[in-house]
Amino acid sequence: MISPEEELRALAERTAGCTACRLAEGRTHVVFGDGGAAAELMFIGEAPGFHEDKQGLPFVGAAGKLLDSLLGEIGLKREQVYIANVIKCRPPGNRDPRPDEIEACKGYLAEQLKLVDPVVVVTLGNFSTKLLLKQQAGITRLRGRSYPWWNRVVVPTFHPAAALRGGEGVLAAMREDFSLVRKLLAEREESARAPAEAPALEGDPEQLELFR
Ligand code: URA
Repeated sequence: MISPEEELRALAERTAGCTACRLAEGRTHVVFGDGGAAAELMFIGEAPGFHEDKQGLPFVGAAGKLLDSLLGEIGLKREQVYIANVIKCRPPGNRDPRPDEIEACKGYLAEQLKLVDPVVVVTLGNFSTKLLLKQQAGITRLRGRSYPWWNRVVVPTFHPAAALRGGEGVLAAMREDFSLVRKLLAEREESARAPAEAPALEGDPEQLELFR
């Protein structure tokens, strides 16, 4: 039987040749994602920027450095988490992804979510938050709490680039959200130690819509 790790690798290879939308024309690399299939925590950003496009890895620029440091504050290293984006190729000039590009790309993210099957998903910024939670409200309204999603939990927070632009208020809010992530992971560890008491996780079929 093929392991989730191998399936993830095979998916990355298929994604590398993707020409499903116009972003294929201008990219240097497809930025598939980074991390192992066993990660319990998964981050979903927006789209690769300049450095990510050059290196083929997500969050390696300034926003990535901030992400690494916020992870460090909750006792985690990048190697312990899985990081992906909604869009796998850099939009020209870092413009916002367009709806048809998201539509063309979201199947890859859905596969990543299924294969990694994380305990907690952190959506960074409006694009990934709206895609998963299907809410009209923006990230400022939605952040600060967790949401049941599929059979897991989503914690929406600001995009690290917003913290780099927006200063202390945004960064303080992100720190709160990361503390919530730490708490949720600790609770999960606790219930794994006492499986008889762990509540059964039921999937919400509505949320699987992303996978269609
Ligand atoms: N911003 C994102 O949303 N993703 C990256 O990989 C880098 C910057």
